[in-house]
Order: sequence, then C-alpha cells, then structure tokens
Amino acid sequence: MLDNLYPESIDASGNYLRLALKQIARHQLPYNPICYATWYEYASGRNPGLNQEIKTLEENNTIISFEIILQLFRLYIADEQTSLAEEKTREFQSILTEITRHLDTSGIRISNRGQKVETYTDRLGQTASVDEVRSISKGIMSETRSIVSQSHSLKQEMDDTISEIDALKKELEGVKQAAKTDILTGLLNRRGFEESVTGALELAREAQSPLSVIIADIDHFKLVNDTHGHLIGDNVLKMLAKLLREHTKGKDIAARFGGEEFILVLPDTPLKGAFVLAEQIRLSLKSMRWINKNTGRPIGAITISLGTAQYQPGESQEKLIERADNALYFAKKTGRNKTVTELDIETA
Ligand code: GH3
Ligand code: MG
Ligand code: MG
Repeated sequence: MLDNLYPESIDASGNYLRLALKQIARHQLPYNPICYATWYEYASGRNPGLNQEIKTLEENNTIISFEIILQLFRLYIADEQTSLAEEKTREFQSILTEITRHLDTSGIRISNRGQKVETYTDRLGQTASVDEVRSISKGIMSETRSIVSQSHSLKQEMDDTISEIDALKKELEGVKQAAKTDILTGLLNRRGFEESVTGALELAREAQSPLSVIIADIDHFKLVNDTHGHLIGDNVLKMLAKLLREHTKGKDIAARFGGEEFILVLPDTPLKGAFVLAEQIRLSLKSMRWINKNTGRPIGAITISLGTAQYQPGESQEKLIERADNALYFAKKTGRNKTVTELDIETA
C-alpha cells in the first residue's frame, strides 16, 4: 500500500523536496520529518484538501506554526495510514469477536478479554494518532495472545473431559456386558438371554420366518461332579459352551440357562435344521476323550440330551421354551444321549 503513495520520479521528488525546504525556511519551521512530509505533500499537489487549507492560511497571512503543521499532517497525511491500520484492526477485531463468541458459548471465563478488545477498538475510532494506533494494535495483539493461550488450555480441559467420558462409557459398557454374561462359560446368562430373546421372536414374527430353540442338559452331571470333582465338572461346562459357540453364528443366541442346562435360539431355522445342529453338537461332545489330569485316569464319555421346538407365530416365549423342555424331558426319560423334537413326542 505505502509504496503506491509516492509514485513520482527522482527528479520530480527532488523538486518537491526543494520546494518543501523553501516553505519550511519561509515559515521558520523545524526541519523535521513531519514538516518535510507536509510541505512535500503540498508541493506535489496530490492532496487538494491540504493545499486548499494552506492556501487559505496564507491568504489570511496566518503564520503557519509547527502546531498547525502537526494538525494538517494528522488530518491529511497520517489519516491515510490510520485508515489502513483501522481497516486491518477491524478485520482483526471481527476475527477476535468470533473467537470470543465461540469461547463464550463454551461458558468459559474469557468474555472480559473480548470486552477489552472492544474498548481498544472504540479508542481506535476516536484517534487519529499513529502512535496511538500502534499502541492499540499492540494491546489487541497481547489480548489475542491471551485468548489463544486460554483457548489452548480450554481445549486441553475439553480433551481431558472427553477422554474421561470415553473411559466411563467403556467402563459402563463393560459393567453392562458383565451383567449379562455367565462368568464360567462366557455365554449369555439368564438375564442376557431374556434381553435378546424377545427381539429375536419379534423379528421372526414380523418376517414370518421360522425360528427354533434347542435346550441341552448334561447327562448324569451330578455323577460327573461326584466322581471326578467339581473342577472337572466346570471344565465340562466350559467345553460344552465352547462347542455351542462353535456351532452357532450371526443372529443365533447361545446362553447358559441354568446349572448344567443350555439354550440356543436359532432365527431362520426350521425344526429340521435345529435337529441336525443339535445332533452335531451332541456327537461332537460324545466323541471327546476326557482324562482326569490329577489321576491320569480316563473319564468316560460325557453326553447330553437335547430337546427342540419350533416357534409358532403368536405364542409366548414361555410356551415355546416349555415345548422344547418337554422334548428334553422325553429324551431323558427314553434313555438320554439323544435329541428329541416336539414332533417326536406327538407321535410317541
Ligand atoms: P440328568 O441326566 O437327569 O440331567 O442328571 P443330572 O445329574 O445331570 O441332573 P441333576 O439336576 O440331578 O444335577 C445337576 C448337577 O449339575 C448338580 C450340580 O451340582 C451340577 N452343577 C450345576 N451347576 C454347576 C457348576 O457351575 N459347576 C459344576 N461343576 N457343577 C454344577
Ligand atoms: Mg443334567
Ligand atoms: Mg438339569
């Protein structure tokens, strides 16, 4: 901006300077830059307001003192630079106001900084002094630095709070998960089962798709515990849970329903499919060889009995489970180590 203020050649500027010096001498003014600048501007004729003002003074034979020169300088010469500074400061201020507004909406103690900036801008509007403009700019810069540094610590505080909230959310999620998980087997416990089964039945009802349940119960489990100890019993439970996980996928629900009783809910699966799956699980467990690590002696085959039933649209969850349970009871009654479907009972 400033380099466009004096576009004249060396020769022309030399002439203006000589004229300016003549005027300074004529009015017995000091040879300081303010006097040079004012008379130089006058000599160049580029500033009609200034020239008109001086012409009137000379016509009235007024002695042009340094005070008058200073006033003319402020009015006609420094003004251009002041307005430049003002323009920059206004841009500056609108950015600051924006920052302040953001910080204010976060409810943080920063608003007095914004007020200070406003005071500076008001002062700027009332002054024509370059020094004052410079000092105000400095003030605004310093306020900006404070705001920036406060906003940094504010951001840090926010980040810390967000991490805390995240950690709490994770903890809460963990607690919720734990509340519906069986500790020994890692399957859903009864509560987890109840939470998931309602949705599964609703979906099956809406989509009119088949859904089946399987209830599995370890055969003579009391005897396993009594003969080989509770720890072996626990290992059997864990192994059966592992098999159930391996034989289920996607939307299937696998849960520990009671002590040594497990339940599977199988969406999109008709009774026939459930029977096939139940048999696969039964045969997998049956084929396993068990050894008592303490005694090194083999443990006989562990078997399960299973009952299965298909959901009838509109029936209650309890009714469905009751029919699968009846099938299981029938399997126990007719020799154990087998899968019985509800249809087997009807035809029996
Ligand atoms: P059935 O073939 O008729 O089902 O006979 P069962 O012995 O398996 O049935 P019963 O209901 O008489 O016994 C169930 C046993 O399961 C008794 C109980 O000690 C055992 N049990 C239940 N929960 C656990 C557990 O968490 N760990 C161990 N090791 N045993 C358990
Ligand atoms: Mg049992
Ligand atoms: Mg039982």
